[in-house]
This record gives sequence, C-alpha cells and structure tokens, in this order.
Amino acid sequence: MGNFKLPEKVDIFEVGPRDGLQNQRDFIPTESKIELVNKLTAAGCQRIEVTSFVHPKWVPQMKDAKEVFSRIDKKEGVVYNALIPNLKGLELALEAGLQEVVTIMSASESHNKKNLNRSVDESLKEIEEINRIAAEKGVKVRSYIATVFGCPIEGDVPVEKVIDIALALEESGSYEISLGDTTGMANPIMAYEIPAMILERLKKASLAVHYHQADGIEFANILASLKAGITVFDGAAGGLGGCPYAPGATGNTATETMVDMFHRMGIKTGIDLDLINECGKFAKSLVNCCNV
Ligand code: MG
Repeated sequence: MGNFKLPEKVDIFEVGPRDGLQNQRDFIPTESKIELVNKLTAAGCQRIEVTSFVHPKWVPQMKDAKEVFSRIDKKEGVVYNALIPNLKGLELALEAGLQEVVTIMSASESHNKKNLNRSVDESLKEIEEINRIAAEKGVKVRSYIATVFGCPIEGDVPVEKVIDIALALEESGSYEISLGDTTGMANPIMAYEIPAMILERLKKASLAVHYHQADGIEFANILASLKAGITVFDGAAGGLGGCPYAPGATGNTATETMVDMFHRMGIKTGIDLDLINECGKFAKSLVNCCNV
C-alpha cells in the first residue's frame, strides 16, 4: 500500500498489572492480580510488567509483589519484569528471582525530586549502580524517563536534557529506554521529533514510548512515533493507571485499542484481539477508582 512505510511487527510492553493497578485506592486481592497477569499471558503478551518492588509504606498496593511474582504462570519466552524505584528494590527483585527489572526517573528536576526525592544526577548515578549489580547477576535493565513531553510542575522540558539522560542510561547499560508522557502532554509533532532525535543518537539501546490518555490524542502520538521508527509501545489493558505524584495524571494507553489499531494497519503484535479485549474488561472490573 503506497509509500507509508511500516514495520511488519511491533512489540507491546504491557504495564497494566503494575502501572495500571498501583494507583488504585483500595487493595486489589493478590489472586486478582495473578489472574490478570495470567490472562495477559494467555492473550499473547510477551512482555509484562508484573509488579513493583517498592516500600509498602510508599505504595501499599504493591506490598504483595513477591507473592504475585512467585505465583503467576510463567510461559516460556515471555518476559516478566517489575519496577524498582531504587537499589533496595533491586535487592528485593533479585531475591525474588527476576531476570529483568525496570528503573524510573524523570527528565525534570522538580518531578524527579517529588517522585524519588533525588536530583536527576543522583538518579542517574543510582541507575548506573543498579545496572552494574544487575549485569553481575545477568539481569537485564529497562529504564523509564518520565515527563519527557512536558512536566506538570515545570512545563516544557528541554529535549537536550532528555537526550543527555537517554545517552547516560544507555551508557550505564540499560538495554531499552522508554519515553514517558506522564500526564498526557505530548502532541503528534513532539511524538515524531523527540523519539527521532533520540533514535539518531542511541548506539545500541532500543527505544520505546509510553503515552498516557489524552482524549484520543495518544493514538495520534503512537502513529507519529511509529513513523519516527519506534517499534516498542507501552500500554495497559483497560487503559488503567495514572501517576500518584503527578497532579492530573491520566490512565495509560489502552493496550486493546492499540492492538486493534496495529492489526487494522496490518502490523503484527502477537496478541489476540478478542483475548486482550477480555483482559481490558477484567482489568476495569478490578478497579473502583475514577481515574480509568
Ligand atoms: Mg504510565
């Protein structure tokens, strides 16, 4: 079809069990979390962020991280990972036997300070140490950069700063960097230009995008990033999520709609549309908060 160049296949990185659920007001039973991960596996998701190894005082919703991780059905070839906010989280994740962990930091100083109580430089140093220890154990590290397309506190975030952070993360060993639109501030021009500029500079790390709901603009952003050469897209079944530290944070891009869009374009995802729609319904049934 024409000269609209497209990849044959994209990767979906499913964040629903962690990013989707962590902000929910009431505790979601461990059994339900396990069931959600198992349903996502059955739907064909190949990369699933299962939970977060974070202090239970900080995120009580994730206090069952170890149990959830140990009890999910793990399918051969599927990567099950978890968010770790710091070195302590890495320690817990290693104890639990994870093969891949995910770090997070923000591109804007004030958001990083509020979220992680560290400066951007301090976070980069800690992630470097996480990478060093993880490499010794043969564990892979994926890294989020939040507030890439705008910060709810500072407003515009200079793209040069995002590029510097992405290159530093690559240098410290992160195999993939995910650009987060934490409060749904991206537009399709940014969604094309920022990933394109970073892709040009990265030597070996792959690049992903993580868009949040913005009245449908997120799908225009996804298309723009696809055109820029991105082939890894983060989403949460049911569109669940939001950031507890970002005022006005919206849910994640709904995985099932993203899968539907890619399939309509003839791009493979490896995910069954009917089954991921069921996952979306199930995920929504688990939450009672208004931020879906
Ligand atoms: Mg998110």
